[in-house]
Parts: sequence; structure tokens; C-alpha cells
Amino acid sequence: MLEKKIMEPIRYYSTNGQAPLVSFRVALFQGQPPDGGLYMPSRIPVFSLDEIWALRGRSYREVAFSCLRGFLIDEIPEEALRKITESAYNFPVPLEHVTARRYLLRLDQGPTASFKDFAARFMARAMQYFTASQDEHRIILVATSGDTGSAIANAFHNLSGLTIVVLYPREEVSFRQAKQMNTLGGNVVAVAAGEKFDQLQALAMKAFEDKDLQNLRLTSANSINWGRLMPQVAYHFYAYTSLAERRGEVMIDSVASGNFGNVTADFLALRMGKPIEKIIVATNENDEFPAFLETGIYRPVKPSRACISNAMNVGNPSNLRRLFDLYGGKVDRDGLVHRMPDMKALRRDAHAISISDHLTRLTIQEAYEHSGVILEPHGAVAWAALKRYLEGRADEPLAVATETAHPAKFPEVLHEFGVKPELPPSLQGLDERPSEVVEITGRYEELKGLLLHLGRVRR
Ligand SMILES: *Cc1c(COP(=O)(O)O)cnc(C)c1O
Repeated sequence: MLEKKIMEPIRYYSTNGQAPLVSFRVALFQGQPPDGGLYMPSRIPVFSLDEIWALRGRSYREVAFSCLRGFLIDEIPEEALRKITESAYNFPVPLEHVTARRYLLRLDQGPTASFKDFAARFMARAMQYFTASQDEHRIILVATSGDTGSAIANAFHNLSGLTIVVLYPREEVSFRQAKQMNTLGGNVVAVAAGEKFDQLQALAMKAFEDKDLQNLRLTSANSINWGRLMPQVAYHFYAYTSLAERRGEVMIDSVASGNFGNVTADFLALRMGKPIEKIIVATNENDEFPAFLETGIYRPVKPSRACISNAMNVGNPSNLRRLFDLYGGKVDRDGLVHRMPDMKALRRDAHAISISDHLTRLTIQEAYEHSGVILEPHGAVAWAALKRYLEGRADEPLAVATETAHPAKFPEVLHEFGVKPELPPSLQGLDERPSEVVEITGRYEELKGLLLHLGRVRR
């Protein structure tokens, strides 16, 4: 448990430094500060090694409660927070043993079989907590390259007073990912476009800044929302409190990375006191960050490369602004570096590896044939990076790679190797459900018109 010291309340500042400090509640609903930066906490709660050790073997809900309590203690009473974490995390979080001391953290057991459920389910409940007393309507706008949309849509589905708009690139999501977004109906509006994810994300950003749309109370639910990022800290701690065998033992984390929410949460966990030897930032062929760590020169990959780990096809991760900020640097959303982060510290804490589609496929095949482990492309990127990092090491450190989606969501890739993963209950019957999609082009005016229309009819 965190010590009850008298400390100043946590406020949120913008990585751009041009916006007023706000509360968690404001950061949650605003999504993004008005100056184009991202919200970061003025203080990061820290656990002692004893406090972490005391969480050993605890349930996921308890670990999540303890991690979030430090951040929220001034704004959500403990009782309410306990209810939120208990109802959000009602599914298993397996740590699958693979070899020696290497594990897969399976984050794929939630209702949409994606790790994004962890963030979305917390965020939806936090928003519900704050709006419960008010009679207002909000539009949640999400641009998604894969699993965000379905996780958010499911987390908010049927909540009154909220309309969810999920905007996705038609060509970059799998059949099932699309089904998970466009078969819910009700307050969930699925919008498809032929553009790439980065372009759609830019469209969404424009909408958030559009003065004409202010009355809609547009709320972001992408990984740029602090309310989405923060709960992800918990599973990084949970892997540790479940597996560490000695107090203070360090572990190696390999994190499948696209927009860098997942991995930034692990950097936060490190700041909060989690003993980590190295955070491996595992990317697909969108290798802007591995290249940056190596050369010190940051260049977004434009346009982003379409890899089989499609939810990681990001050429300029939005959470890079937070990661730079954690290391004293400053980068803007276009990827322009204004101040270099402390590269020495960053390289001490992190290592970054780009994995090709070819190696991703080999890794899926090899894990299945040698260990009977079924990976899907995103988890395979993290697993391949972990293996590469540990190559030639004589000792066996505790090491965990994140598996971020359920293999059954990627049947096309897995069938190549004769692997037929069983559908989790949440995906059964999905293929047959009727779809309802609004098709738009990448013209901003189309999105704007649709949002204005929804604001009028859904009040
Ligand atoms: C979103 C997503 C990722 C990337 O996570 P970030 O937090 O954006 O880095 C990885 N794998 C899957 C399956 C995803 O849906």
C-alpha cells in the first residue's frame, strides 16, 4: 500500500507546456490539452520495494486498485475506485509459461479479446462515475488502427448519454476487428474510410480542435487520453507481483508497441518503483523508434508501413510525447524534436527492436512447433524481440512479453501454419452478425458533418 503521506494533489500538465494544470477529471474528458500536447501527471506515486513485495500473489483487481489509488486518491473515493476496478477486471489475466523463466502476459481474455479492454473498461467506468450525476450528452470519437475501436465500443455500448464514433481504416483492420465495431449498433456508430490510420488520426485530432464542434463535448478515447494510459500500469505491475521470486528482483519486459500507450505505461511502472532491468520496445517494420535510440535522430515513418501486426502500423507514435517528457525531452505531435531527452538514461532503461513481417511469421511457426504456444502477429513481435534481446545470454533472467490480442482474431495469418485457435466465447457468432457502417472519404468536412448530425439526433 502507498504510504499516507501528506502530498500535494496530482495535477496534469501538457507536454507542450502551454496549457493550464487540470484535475484528472478534466484531463479525462478533455482527452487532450488545448495546446496540442498530452497530459502528464505533476507527480508519480512511488511504491517502496516492501510495498511491491506485499502485493505478491494478489489478484489482478487488487493490484489494479493499489496502482490506481495513488493517482486518484484525491478525486475518486477508495470505495468507488474499488467498485470500478472490480467490475472492470472480471476476466482472467494469465501468465503463460513458455521456457525457463520466460512468460507471455496474455492480455487477450477481455470481452473484445484485446489488451485494449484493460484501458477501455476502466476509462468507461471512470467517465460514468463522473457523469452519473449530470444529465449531459457526449460523443466519444476514436480513430483506431485495430483493436481500440472495438474495445471502446464494447466498454461504452448501451451507456446512456454517450454516443461512440469509431473511425477505422477499411484496408488495415481484419474482418473480425471490423465486425467487432460495426455489429454493435445502438449508440455505437462505425465509420470506415480508405485512408491510412495516421491520416484518420489526424482527422480526429482536427475535430477535437474544431471550435464549431465544441458543443458536442467531443471526448477522445484513443491512447492519447490519460484515463486510458494510466490503468495499463497495473498489468505491468501484475506480471511482476505474480512472478518475482525475490524481493527487488529485476525483470525484462518486451512490449508490443504501436502508439506506445502500452510501453509508456511500463515506463511509468518503472518510475513507480517496479524493478525492471530493461524495457524492450518491440515494433514491427515501423522502426522510427528503434532507429532513434540507435542514431539519436528521430524521423517518423511516413506513410506508415502496412505489416501483419496491423494494430502496430504507426509511423509516429502519439505517446512519444509522453515518453520524451519522462526523460526531459520535448517532441511535438508531428515528430519534430524541440529538446532531446536524456539519451543516456533512456538507453539505460530501454532497448528497441524492429521485427520484420518475415520474422514475425517465423516466430509464430516456431513458438507453435517447439513450445505449443499460439501467438498472433502482435504478440509474436514482442516475443521475437525478447528472444533476440536474450540471445547468447548465459543467465536466465525473469522475462515477460505481452500478448496483446487473441490469436483467433487473426485466422488468416495463423492458418498459414495450420494453426486453428479456438474462438473465445466473446467472438463466437460474430462473423454472422449483420454490419452497419458509414463510409466516408478522408475529407474532413465529411467527418465534421457526420459529427454535427449525430450531435443533433442523439441529444
Ligand atoms: C493497439 C495495439 C497494439 C499497440 O499498442 P500501443 O499501446 O498503441 O503501443 C498492439 N497490439 C494490439 C493487438 C493492439 O490492438
